[in-house]
Amino acid sequence: MFSLDDTIAAIATPLGEGGVGIVKLSGDQALPIAQQIFEPAHGRKKFKPRYLHFGYVVQPETGQPIDEVLVAYMPAPHSYTCQDVVEIQAHGGIVPLQAILQLVLSLGARLAEPGEMTLRAFVNGRLDLTQAEAVLDVIQAKTEAGLRLATQQLGGTLSGQVSQIRQQLINVLAYLEATIDFVDEDIPLEDVSPSLQEAQIEIKKLIATAAHGLIYRQGVRAAIVGKPNVGKSSLLNALLRGERAIVTDIPGTTRDTLEETANIGGIPLVLVDTAGIRTKPGDTVEQIGIDRSRAALAQADLALMVVDRSQALTEADWEIEKLVRGKPALLILNKTDLPQGQPLPNAFLPDMPRVPLSALTGQGLDDLETTIIAQVSGGRIITSDTPVVSNPRHKALLIQAAESIQAAIEAHFEGISPDLISIDVREAVDALGEITGETATEDLLNTIFSKFCIGK
Ligand code: GDP
Repeated sequence: MFSLDDTIAAIATPLGEGGVGIVKLSGDQALPIAQQIFEPAHGRKKFKPRYLHFGYVVQPETGQPIDEVLVAYMPAPHSYTCQDVVEIQAHGGIVPLQAILQLVLSLGARLAEPGEMTLRAFVNGRLDLTQAEAVLDVIQAKTEAGLRLATQQLGGTLSGQVSQIRQQLINVLAYLEATIDFVDEDIPLEDVSPSLQEAQIEIKKLIATAAHGLIYRQGVRAAIVGKPNVGKSSLLNALLRGERAIVTDIPGTTRDTLEETANIGGIPLVLVDTAGIRTKPGDTVEQIGIDRSRAALAQADLALMVVDRSQALTEADWEIEKLVRGKPALLILNKTDLPQGQPLPNAFLPDMPRVPLSALTGQGLDDLETTIIAQVSGGRIITSDTPVVSNPRHKALLIQAAESIQAAIEAHFEGISPDLISIDVREAVDALGEITGETATEDLLNTIFSKFCIGK
């Protein structure tokens, strides 16, 4: 269903200025093309597998050098794609890399689609689908904890567990189908329910890990809300400071919001900033604060409600309190370094964790982090040997499999005939197969691999 016969090529490194840039080729023609354009600095023009060869990429007709390079040849099947792969390490600039790419395209290679190298690794059986997805997760990891999860998945921990459960269900299915196909023969009666229940328990254990697994991969969207001047920007800056800051500003989903990501104990905390939100003429400052809080809350999984503890609460605090009520939230009692105002009434966000803080001095920031981690992940820590589900696609399919098994177990206890039970078991087997890729459709593969960058 996918074309694997042609030779694909792409620039595998980001386009920009860097020390090194790589043009990658995969397919039958990788080696012949490389031989046509490579001029070794010394010695014979022969590529030794898995050695680095120093020389020049040259125009084949004129011998005109394009760039000084190192070339590696990885013959099939021991390469990333399981095909012949050539990597040309050139200088990391747009012009030399484009020139080399155009040259290999002119000699018969085709430009690779996004993720096509990894797709070939999948189709050729080197990676299953969870591992292929993990490649992207490694590249896009936002924190070290997220990276640990991704490398664990890349190593096959999750697919190993899923395959084991699937095999157990396939055994049940084989038995059920035998009883249907050979009714006249004496097939010893077996109770399939313990096997089904065991598979069910294992699947539910995996589903339970998704509660924190998804968070480490995707992060938690948090809105800092509160009326003007309580210290929201100061808190944002404190959370983003130093070690906690991750990469860059990510433009938000709407024009009015920005997102910045802080690393809170390995959890990417995506802070939704609504400072740019449009206001209506005649709005008071308080009203603008309320509108911004509402907009931020609409996009968030968690609210960080800030009040100024050096002042008495006002109407605007209570207005925002109403918006936050019933949502996962923390109440941050800011400005603890100043003389404190009246005690906060219990009726203000009752039962919410309350964290005293001075965003100005940083006092209380560690406690705030601990409270955020406890609130969003239940304080769970990832260890490397237990499989963790961190991808919503996997979670959805596990839930589907669990439902099918439940239906099979119920049908079994109701004494329903094996051919009907086997339909449910088959559905569970297929759902699990879709996680690892055994039963994935072309559409699904296209959706997954199109998210990759070109050259991976
Ligand atoms: P926002 O309008 O809610 O974003 O509030 P800002 O972060 O801009 O802070 C408003 C004012 O309060 C600024 O002058 C801050 O320096 C000050 N402020 C913020 N947090 C603290 C704090 O913890 N202690 C003290 N003393 N001042 C603070």
